[in-house]
Amino acid sequence: MKVIDHIKNSTDTRFSFEILPPLKGMSIQSIYDGIDPLMEFKPPFINVTYHREEHVYKERNDGLLQKVSVRKRPGTVGICAAIMNKYHVDAVPHIICGGFNKEETENALIDLQFLGIENILALRGDPIKNETHFIANKAGHKYAVNLIDQVVEMNNGNFLHEETGNSAATDFCIGAAGYPEKHFESMNLKTDLKHLKEKIDAGAEFIVTQMFFDNQKYFDFVKSCRETGINVPIIPGLKPITTLKHISFLPKFFHIDFPEELSNELEKCTSNAEAKEVGIEWGIKQSKELVDYGAPLLHYYTMGKGASVKKIASEIF
Ligand code: FAD
Repeated sequence: MKVIDHIKNSTDTRFSFEILPPLKGMSIQSIYDGIDPLMEFKPPFINVTYHREEHVYKERNDGLLQKVSVRKRPGTVGICAAIMNKYHVDAVPHIICGGFNKEETENALIDLQFLGIENILALRGDPIKNETHFIANKAGHKYAVNLIDQVVEMNNGNFLHEETGNSAATDFCIGAAGYPEKHFESMNLKTDLKHLKEKIDAGAEFIVTQMFFDNQKYFDFVKSCRETGINVPIIPGLKPITTLKHISFLPKFFHIDFPEELSNELEKCTSNAEAKEVGIEWGIKQSKELVDYGAPLLHYYTMGKGASVKKIASEIF
């Protein structure tokens, strides 16, 4: 079923979550071990992230360094199929522009169609780790909106090559990313909203937000979206803090702020266990408020650490 239909068919706020493919070499069981404890909260769908290649340097026999392209977390499409097969819920793969040309994107989407996957989250993707800015594949897409255009073309039965006959149109429900605290490359929130509206006008039917820790930022974002004419469901993304490292890592990596009340509590923590406890308490507080607000769905970023999400969800769903 499509994400928007799951939302339309629900009267209450629903629970969903995002998982990462395991590091190359790990088994699918590690994915099931992360999902199993969360299935009691009846997620209508599970998102699976996509990870592009990284460049690493390996020393050759002659002592020189060789640049090698490595994909550390492959398997997004296979994991989606495995999830649907095992749990009978929808899987939402993330599809990115980075590292793909249009042909490869089309092939990936055809695979998804054949697997019965009805939803995708269309993203640009971040720059490769050692690049200062995002560089699009020469025959690929520069922005998520261009990827959305391609999916919409396929939904209309238009594939890349004219010789494609008898095209069986795809029927993907497309989601896009939104940033309550603005995307880090954007000049300001208004410009970012303008580009978000372009994604919706192109055919995206729902938005999933970047994580935020201050609900007021989400409320303001929804209000600004509505004022800009963005009327699709806006699914809040939530991430429980689970380690002391998150205190500096999350603001740095995701370009988000912690509200003062939370940072005051985190400053008192001296161990990972204490930080995790604060993260759970904050997650419960945030979730309760978002349910009262009437958020369509709460979407948790597990990042391989589902235990805190389970504790939060136990108090909410
Ligand atoms: P875009 O919508 O293309 O926007 C990127 C920037 O360009 C923004 O600053 C925007 O304002 C600007 N912009 C957009 N259109 C134009 C235009 N026409 N002209 C000028 N500027 C423009 N990354 C992954 O690699 N894999 C994942 O699985 C993944 N999952 C994610 C899930 C969620 C819910 C979110 C919020 C992010 C996720 N990301 C993922 C990270 C995402 O790829 C990065 O944040 C990326 O930098 C931007 O992606 P986007 O789709 O928002 O890009």
